[in-house]
Amino acid sequence: MDVDDIETIAVLGAGNMGHGIAEVAALAGFDVHLRDINEEFVQNGYDQIEWSLGKLAEKEQIGEDEADAALDRVTPYVDFEDAVADVEFVVEAVPEKMEIKQDVYEDLEEYAPEDAVFATNTSSLSITDLSEFTERPERFCGMHFFNPPVRMQLVEVISGAHTDGDVLDVTEDLAEAMGKTPVRVRKDSPGFIVNRVLVPLLNEAAWLVHEGEATIAEVDSTTKYDIGLPMGAFELADQVGVDVAYDVLDYMQGVLGEAYEPCPVLVEKVEAEELGKKTGAGFYDYENGGADVPTDQARDDVADRLTAVMANEVAKLVGNDVADPAEIDEAVMLGAGYPEGPAKMADSAGIEHLYETLADVYEQGGAARYEPAAELERMASEGEQFHGAADTEESGYAGFDNVSVSVDGNVGHLEIDRPHRMNTISGDLLDELGEAIDALDADEDVRTILLTGAGDKAFSAGADVQSMAGSADPIDAVELSRKGQQTFGKLEECDVPVVAGIDGYCLGGGMELATCADMRVASKRSELGQPEHNLGLLPGWGGTQRLKHIVGEGRAKEIIFTAERYDPETMADYGFVNEVVDNDELEDRAWELARDLAAGPPIAQTYTKRAMLAGRDSTDAGLETEAQAFGQLMNTQDLMEGISAFSADRDPDFEGR
Ligand code: NAD
Repeated sequence: MDVDDIETIAVLGAGNMGHGIAEVAALAGFDVHLRDINEEFVQNGYDQIEWSLGKLAEKEQIGEDEADAALDRVTPYVDFEDAVADVEFVVEAVPEKMEIKQDVYEDLEEYAPEDAVFATNTSSLSITDLSEFTERPERFCGMHFFNPPVRMQLVEVISGAHTDGDVLDVTEDLAEAMGKTPVRVRKDSPGFIVNRVLVPLLNEAAWLVHEGEATIAEVDSTTKYDIGLPMGAFELADQVGVDVAYDVLDYMQGVLGEAYEPCPVLVEKVEAEELGKKTGAGFYDYENGGADVPTDQARDDVADRLTAVMANEVAKLVGNDVADPAEIDEAVMLGAGYPEGPAKMADSAGIEHLYETLADVYEQGGAARYEPAAELERMASEGEQFHGAADTEESGYAGFDNVSVSVDGNVGHLEIDRPHRMNTISGDLLDELGEAIDALDADEDVRTILLTGAGDKAFSAGADVQSMAGSADPIDAVELSRKGQQTFGKLEECDVPVVAGIDGYCLGGGMELATCADMRVASKRSELGQPEHNLGLLPGWGGTQRLKHIVGEGRAKEIIFTAERYDPETMADYGFVNEVVDNDELEDRAWELARDLAAGPPIAQTYTKRAMLAGRDSTDAGLETEAQAFGQLMNTQDLMEGISAFSADRDPDFEGR
């Protein structure tokens, strides 16, 4: 079966996940049969789809017509046979109980077409065991969406012991057709990838507190502001539900052994029914202010321990060939919003150091959970990393983690590459951006830089406040501001023209970055603005100075003081955006403009940039630079070429000489 053969998908269960999966499938153009056990439940799911589509249309992420058409494609069912008799693909999202799922598969076997693929959205149950309740274990796999499916990009596609490769391929293709990013989990292993990394980390956080080694405040401060994860460990436990984390651990303990014994601290919370946000209290009290993680209580030893436990899980997944480090990193970044993958984090912390952290505790009589994985021990002894050094040797522009850089013809393409974090700008990203601009500027082949953001959500949504909140020290903050000013300024100062292709959010630091380009093209769906005043901050990466040179001081003040989000048409009226194009034309048009500029006269372009920049401080200085440059250009071959091309009515071929 090919993904093109799939027209109709049955989604069984119209609950939290089922209705979301049905919505995603309908938006992708599939007919969807949504089934639940009674009219009320299925109608409730359908109503939630209608509400969610309405929200997407309200936010102009989709058109009204698109929302109506998607809803039209969803048909609610209670009768099982009617729901599945004529479908090519089934996604099961009924409650996480073996017996319920078994009953559903027996009915499915009876009524669904023989060659239909069955996929389960289970979070923790064994795909192999579930597949054996059917008569088609080779056409059965896991298709694990994350909550809420409409927003979460990741789908883990999990092989059972009997699953055919073709079935995994078609399931991945289907996830892609739904606009998602599939990551293959090659073996049926408890927790798959994301939960396998996340949940033992939560457990270790709890053990640290249980054993009196650290406080909740210290652990969460460390996770959030030192390791740089999106939330504190206990904050996350409250968010996902302490009971959910406990259930996953309990299951892992059953299958994988004592290393996954749930910490008594979690057990107590479950028994007290303090399950987190959903019950109003867990580790934090959500009726009185919620999670309040201090920024300044991080501890290096806590960071080491948590990172070591996380690295150990990654090593087990890699050692057992469940997934490779790149797949694990992608899955955890997309599924849990990590700013960097766990394998990459482990590499940065040092594999040998993390191995020793675990081995020390284990050898002093520590529990089974500290036993280093064989793969971690091997890597430590052989001086290996998860991401081998090979990654960085492919080309002169490889080795960046947060940006990607390539050269196509005479255009150097610099892409901010953190789409899972809306391309927000962290300290590491600033470092890489500076390095990449310097390298492109020094590259003789590069005659224009095209600056874009990866993905279709954001050019850059601004500073990565989370990764920076830890550096609340005023002196550090001054330095951070200077560093951003200087790094972005490299674009103004570099010799070649810079085009910014803006698609999606271009806010705060993202807009200050775009301000340093020479020209800006934006898609219609883009939103631009300097929202810093809303936070009690000011644009600290050049915004108070550079914006006024483009839009004038009056408009610059308006943009900064109102902190509003602007549509690109208004920004074009203000002179900030040079051109607004349809969403699907942005990429082509930005490249076209960059290629046009790359065909321009390099020396004249360099001097024009310099003269205009010099003139910002003093018109006299600018005029002098202009005069000197004008003189220099008289002697260039480019000028001769320009004049002869003009007389012969042909395009000039400038060589920068
Ligand atoms: P839920 O309780 O919100 O929804 C389950 C729905 O299935 C209910 O509406 C129930 O009436 C219905 N149902 C029960 N028996 C049925 C049957 N025989 N046929 C059709 N429908 C039936 O649960 P959920 O959170 O949507 O979880 C569903 C599955 O997705 C579980 O396997 C869960 O582990 C998995 N999952 C959940 C999440 C999450 O965050 N909630 C994330 C990923 C995966």
